[in-house]
Amino acid sequence: MAATILVVEDEPAIQELIAYNLKQAGHQLLKADNAEQAMHLVQTALPDLVLLDWMLPGISGVEFARRLRADRRTRQIPIIMLTARSEEQDKLTGLETGADDYVTKPFSPRELNARVKAVLRRRAPQVTDDVVRMGGLELDPASHRVTGNTQPVDLGPTEFRLLHFLMTHSERVHSRAQLLDQVWGDHVFVEERTVDVHIRRLRKALEPTTLDSLIQTVRGTGYRFSTTP
Ligand code: CA
Repeated sequence: MAATILVVEDEPAIQELIAYNLKQAGHQLLKADNAEQAMHLVQTALPDLVLLDWMLPGISGVEFARRLRADRRTRQIPIIMLTARSEEQDKLTGLETGADDYVTKPFSPRELNARVKAVLRRRAPQVTDDVVRMGGLELDPASHRVTGNTQPVDLGPTEFRLLHFLMTHSERVHSRAQLLDQVWGDHVFVEERTVDVHIRRLRKALEPTTLDSLIQTVRGTGYRFSTTP
């Protein structure tokens, strides 16, 4: 499981400890010391998860979580709050702002990794190694293999990620901007027609298995993976 995780933490020692452990677990790290810096990073690329310190200088972690939840583009990002407080009321406030989980300091690296894994599995299945099966297609992230009606399908890395995202978020329409954000991690510098190019390649690769029709174009909106024609 390799996710891009944004750590927002103003204490350098804790930030370093978290970054070290999450890198060891195979994740990519983005780091910010405060909410303003974190917002700037999120504007460029969407992380798969945010680890957010409650007590930050300037805009607090709670306020930052609220802002992420209030914005359509960032609403779905899973958030784990880091808190030095263990009082019940604070936990409730944290969860009310839309955090998916919280970890109380001091925490063990093992606990943190376990929580990150659990939240990703629940909220960001496209970054987990779980095998996905749907409509005759099977995608195995661990071995990077795809089969369609038991025939092997040869996909490039971008088509693989695109298919993985679409399969784990099936029966929903995704705009080109959303796909750029979710699959490319960049909606600013990559052009929207790039999505069309890779969708075309993906369909072509699926053609021999006759499963290319699972990737549907929704006119004027975007693309959808659906087992219903
Ligand atoms: Ca702090």
